[in-house]
Amino acid sequence: MKKLLTFVTLLLFVVATSAAQQAKYIFYFIGDGLGINHIHGTELYNAAVHTDMADNGKLSFTRFPIRSYVTNHSASSLVTDSSAAATALASGVKSVNGYMGVDAEVVPAVTIAELASERGMKVGVATNVAVNHATPSAFFAHDKSRSSYGKLFEQLLASKVDFAAGASILTKRSGKSAQQCVDMAKEAGVEVVQDPKAVYDIKDKRVLLLGPNLKKQTLEYAVDCKPGDHSIVDYTAVAIDYLERKATSKGFFLMVEAGHLDYCAHDNDAVTTFEEVNDLSRSVQLALDFYAKHPKQTLIVITADHETGGLSLGSNDYFMYPEKLAWQQCSMVALTAKMRAMRNSGDLEWESMKKLLTTELGLWDKVELSAEDEELLKECFEQDFVRDAEEVVSLYNHNEKLASLAVGVLNRYAKIKWISLDHTGMQVPLYVKGVGAELFRECYDNTDIPKVIAKIASLPLK
Ligand SMILES: [Zn+2]
Repeated sequence: MKKLLTFVTLLLFVVATSAAQQAKYIFYFIGDGLGINHIHGTELYNAAVHTDMADNGKLSFTRFPIRSYVTNHSASSLVTDSSAAATALASGVKSVNGYMGVDAEVVPAVTIAELASERGMKVGVATNVAVNHATPSAFFAHDKSRSSYGKLFEQLLASKVDFAAGASILTKRSGKSAQQCVDMAKEAGVEVVQDPKAVYDIKDKRVLLLGPNLKKQTLEYAVDCKPGDHSIVDYTAVAIDYLERKATSKGFFLMVEAGHLDYCAHDNDAVTTFEEVNDLSRSVQLALDFYAKHPKQTLIVITADHETGGLSLGSNDYFMYPEKLAWQQCSMVALTAKMRAMRNSGDLEWESMKKLLTTELGLWDKVELSAEDEELLKECFEQDFVRDAEEVVSLYNHNEKLASLAVGVLNRYAKIKWISLDHTGMQVPLYVKGVGAELFRECYDNTDIPKVIAKIASLPLK
């Protein structure tokens, strides 16, 4: 009898523990292009520049109990693109660069979001770039090409995603306009809104939240944000509110992508990159606030698809000066726009350009320039700005060569160096907190991450 009682007690304990161990609320944050140095660089920058920030500018996730890194090569290259990496992070399979939600043999790969829906969990995806860009699409779409934007959007509408948020809808080569896509969504019974606050009033319908200007592929960079502009932090807040209201006893799954981060890393623009990481950190803080209410049922995972830019902290000697970045007021893209406005107004004076670079980057005034560097900028001004209107073309942006050079000079003075305008094959960081976090110690590759999430949530991902 005593033995039987001990057995029953043990059984009850096992059942209770495994029930408590099951993740009911899953947060999956993906920093597009987020390398380990983007994260550490942001903390150093915060400590030097945002001296009013709490905790010396530490990010909300860098002290999570699990801090690790994973390999992220694709099936076709040691340097992955976003779609192959996102496919790995969503479905646990290796794919070919450019493929979307399918394995290397073009067989559709079941995603963790699809399994979560099947189990009755509410599902959300949010990004500050287009809603059918590579990373979000990997959670609901399957196609041989990440550029089949029309098909990817149709698959979003046909999917069981309850909440989708993004700056815009990509329509290139789809034969449709963004407005036609919005109309399609409405016909499919989805509530489409362009104000985050409007989501608070939506009760039963599925939601598509878009940015204020569908002609802009992305939201504003955090560094360029003005009051009233949308941000990934706003999108995360309303996503959590909506999913929490809609969730049954089965809980929810939310993927949040800091997607714009990749764009400025492709431009090698350090300040803009660091401010995007700060926005990611603020989004994660919202998940942590939720976690505080449901600590035994919440899992928070933060990782990246790949590193962008080959960012290095310190170069050529034993110093770094992140404090020199304090006076950069806008992104390289916004600086380019200001330069073009000058050109369009007919102002082609070097003194005017110097004034702009002083106001926007702190050059001369706060960051003393060598005579050689002043000469370098002046030459670029005369030749590339005044005469040739020369551009530097990165993956997503066409910047004025002078804007690129000036931001590059500032980064060099801070001793922050970039080695690539594209992705690198560096391993990517992984931070985990919450129920089952310790199981992520067994993650070595990006394909392991969704499998471990599935295990903790009891979802049947193979
Ligand atoms: Zn990417």
